[in-house]
Amino acid sequence: MMNCIFCKIVEGTIPSQKVYEDEKVVGFKDISPVAPVHIIIIPKHHIESVMEVDENNADIVSHIILVAKKIAKELGISEKGFRIVNNCGKEGGQTVPHLHFHLLGGRDMQWPPG
Ligand code: AMP
Ligand code: ZN
Repeated sequence: MMNCIFCKIVEGTIPSQKVYEDEKVVGFKDISPVAPVHIIIIPKHHIESVMEVDENNADIVSHIILVAKKIAKELGISEKGFRIVNNCGKEGGQTVPHLHFHLLGGRDMQWPPG
């Protein structure tokens, strides 16, 4: 999608610190981390949000969970634990309209979220 910041990260037209890439997804460091480990995992194909996930494209979500698990292991947060977050829509706190999951770790997480 033109003008989508995460599509531009996929294309490489804006820089990112990638920690994972395969044919379907990319994982990169969040530009403004809120935890010692803060990785954003996105499908390469533009999907706006969870509201645009359906039976035709839902496979990407399980793939992203498997990738999150792999990255968590590689970055050394799998034993202590971590959090996977998706923000959907305005009240959900979504600021970038390209489906993404946050992988957060390296500190104790609070509940409930803000
Ligand atoms: P959300 O608020 O759930 O939509 O999350 C968007 C996330 O993308 C935020 O945590 C931002 O810090 C992060 N972000 C925005 N632009 C970039 C970028 N160019 N590179 C890496 N992370 C970014
Ligand atoms: Zn996009």
